Amino acid sequence: MSSDVFAVEPDARPLILVVEDNPANSRLICEMLRAGGYRVHVAADGLQGLDRARGLRPALILTDLQMPGLDGLTLTQTLKSDPATAQVPVLAVTAHAMADHRASALAAGCAGFVTKPIRFQPFLAEIADVLRLTDACRA
Ligand code: MN
Repeated sequence: MSSDVFAVEPDARPLILVVEDNPANSRLICEMLRAGGYRVHVAADGLQGLDRARGLRPALILTDLQMPGLDGLTLTQTLKSDPATAQVPVLAVTAHAMADHRASALAAGCAGFVTKPIRFQPFLAEIADVLRLTDACRA
């Protein structure tokens, strides 16, 4: 009997980096993402998010906007200005559905916007859309 059946398959699930300073929020987001079939890595603030984005090269980054130290908009601008991370799509996650917050997130280079409270199906649909668009651009 071949031992190939026991070989470990490379993990093809896309890795998503979650940058969120509120532990309850990041737990909820991670649960939803894992249920959606993604691998997840969490950063607890913007600086850690920047470090992990550079080190892990995730398929997508979800970032809270209001965080101590490096906020989500500055994090996004920094990632977009670095050729090494510029192509990683960033989705902003915020409690504010205000039009000006949406505009500043897009101006900073975010690919889109997720508003809290997060609803499971639209959230996963938005992520799938952004990943599809990113793949299409790379092809
Ligand atoms: Mn926050």
